[in-house]
Amino acid sequence: MHEHTSCVIVGGGPAGMVAGLLLARAGVEVTVLEKHKDFLRDFRGDTVHPSTLTLLDELGLGEKFLSLPHSQISYAGFPAEDGTMMRLADLTRLKVAHPFVAMVPQWDFLDLLADAGAKESAFTLRQSTEMTGLIREGGRVTGVRYRDVEGKTGELRADLVIAADGRWSLARREAGLVPKEYNTPFDAWWFRISRREGEMEGGLTPRMRNRRFAVPLPRKGYFQVAYLGPKGEDLRTKGIDWFRENVADVCPEFADRVDELKTTDDIKFLDVKLNLLRKWHLDGLLCIGDAAHAMSPVGGVGINLAVQDAVAAATLLAEPLRRGRPSVADLAKVRRRRLAPTMLVQGLQRMLHKNVMRPVMEGRRNGPPAPMVKLFRRFPVLSYFPARLLGLGLRPEHAPAFARRAMEPAGS
Ligand SMILES: Cc1cc2nc3c(=O)[nH]c(=O)nc-3n(C[C@H](O)[C@H](O)[C@H](O)COP(=O)(O)OP(=O)(O)OC[C@H]3O[C@@H](n4cnc5c(N)ncnc54)[C@H](O)[C@@H]3O)c2cc1C
Repeated sequence: MHEHTSCVIVGGGPAGMVAGLLLARAGVEVTVLEKHKDFLRDFRGDTVHPSTLTLLDELGLGEKFLSLPHSQISYAGFPAEDGTMMRLADLTRLKVAHPFVAMVPQWDFLDLLADAGAKESAFTLRQSTEMTGLIREGGRVTGVRYRDVEGKTGELRADLVIAADGRWSLARREAGLVPKEYNTPFDAWWFRISRREGEMEGGLTPRMRNRRFAVPLPRKGYFQVAYLGPKGEDLRTKGIDWFRENVADVCPEFADRVDELKTTDDIKFLDVKLNLLRKWHLDGLLCIGDAAHAMSPVGGVGINLAVQDAVAAATLLAEPLRRGRPSVADLAKVRRRRLAPTMLVQGLQRMLHKNVMRPVMEGRRNGPPAPMVKLFRRFPVLSYFPARLLGLGLRPEHAPAFARRAMEPAGS
């Protein structure tokens, strides 16, 4: 006997959990399959932007979320070659309740969504359950095969499969959907270094010097640092001393702390990808989040765009799912709605790769282009536009009426 649900979501990341919660609140039977046993993963997207903070308020989860230990980033800028600071994106210019990026471990965010989902009778989360293949019948995707942690296999049929299984999406591969890849000039190497009270409070200022580029993100009690290395080069082979020297050179304020990096195991690798699916759906299947478009880490938009896709998908597909199978035309609406906001942010990321990261890493400059610095200095109001694009996006998605709830008090 086969199992059946209305919607099966592959992947319990930000996209899958938000889509699952919203659809369940619409009364649609939904099962989220997550291959890991929990959400604990270090150095994932931990940057929760104003668009997501507004959504959490609308879902009644905002107070609980902001009661989690977090740090806040209100602006992002660049130190110019003359040593002064240029604000590129000033979130305090946005007219929103939370004009900042909240840095919260992704697992806390996902746990919060899982708790909210557990209150909905239509919501099921199956952890330690890996999707191993798509089921196709009569020319359409009709479900998934899975394997649980004990090796038990099964088939789950559904009116819709949502592929929210991230940038290495198996569901996407099985569906034969291939994203267009854009060149990126760097990979990111992440590590942690201690942070003193008040250090680099409130802002994000990348460090650039001597072909080196690092981005220290202020977290509670530590910095999460991204050190950019040339694409495809394994910096760990150079040894930990090389790493320490380079970090101390580009961030002289860390020179007294680089010894905290004990071995190259302390350095985590992010293969930076920037890609976009031309087509996000097949009959019976829809890709969202990183499965539809992997983002560069520039601007920390990955989680937020994944969440926006999930809201759009739930808003557009709840009603068709209540009636039965969404049509191909229903599924196409999700891409149509999310394509321009996604392409615009990817365009900004590619522009920054070309005009800021690449020239610095090739030793042509130690900062952003001089005309850009001059322009943003002369007209500081311009910092509204990157803030708007990164913080809210071109078309911010709001919780549909069926998903809205009164605010739950923190600690409840
Ligand atoms: C090291 C690193 C640092 C990052 N830093 C940032 C940042 O600072 N800011 C930011 O916004 N973004 C960042 N990102 C990107 C961000 O994490 C993603 O954009 C975001 O999580 C995408 O959400 P998603 O739900 O689409 O996919 P994911 O978060 O990738 O979630 C996919 C989920 O699917 C599960 N899964 C995969 N395959 C299967 C399967 N076959 N069966 C069942 N489950 C499956 C995975 O376990 C995972 O939980 C970073 C990513 C990495 C890897």
